[in-house]
Amino acid sequence: MSVNTEAYKQLQKELGATTLVAVSKFKSAEDILALYDLGHRDFGENFVQELLIKYESLPKDICWHFIGHLQSNKVKYIVPFIHMIHGVDTLKLLNEIDKQAAKAGVTVKCLLQLHVATEDTKFGLNESELAEAIKQNHENIEVKGLMGMASFTSDEKMIKEEFGKLVNLYDRWKPLMKNFDTLSMGMSSDYKIAIAAGSNMVRIGSLLFGSR
Ligand SMILES: *Cc1c(COP(=O)(O)O)cnc(C)c1O
Repeated sequence: MSVNTEAYKQLQKELGATTLVAVSKFKSAEDILALYDLGHRDFGENFVQELLIKYESLPKDICWHFIGHLQSNKVKYIVPFIHMIHGVDTLKLLNEIDKQAAKAGVTVKCLLQLHVATEDTKFGLNESELAEAIKQNHENIEVKGLMGMASFTSDEKMIKEEFGKLVNLYDRWKPLMKNFDTLSMGMSSDYKIAIAAGSNMVRIGSLLFGSR
């Protein structure tokens, strides 16, 4: 078992009202339970197969966050139980989530992922796609806010600028939306910068569970 419970307690203090999503990809059910036993309920996973196995075997009051790149053909497997989908990065995916949510008779909380990093490898909508996604106003989707990732760099100024872009978009849309209250940004390496910029949800893995 490799959960750093000291780091967890320290983080909880430091985060205050910011929601901590403990990113447990590639980590065992035992590791997840170690945090669960400390009262933690929000866990993030990147892969559908892995999530389904964990969902089946772990307590049902865990709030599962899907934070990875979600393929449209796998949406149907997670929609019935997912707490929030962070990585909605295409309009096609948004449509598919709406369709599968209607079938399952649920409303799915989603975060629209914005592309703010310099790397082309990162996923996400651009500003006009964001406007389009919001305009579509799907019946079975509750758009809760935005998610994004900064470039993988040690250049703090650059990270700050990229998070700043997200904050600007979040602040612009928030007054126009109902239940739009979540800005998911910040990981182990950059969560301090993210919180200073205005994040209210961080996704942290390696700091809690060790490297992958
Ligand atoms: C893996 C992952 C994280 C957690 O990364 P750490 O650096 O381990 O904290 C956060 N967000 C996303 C989208 C991830 O894929």
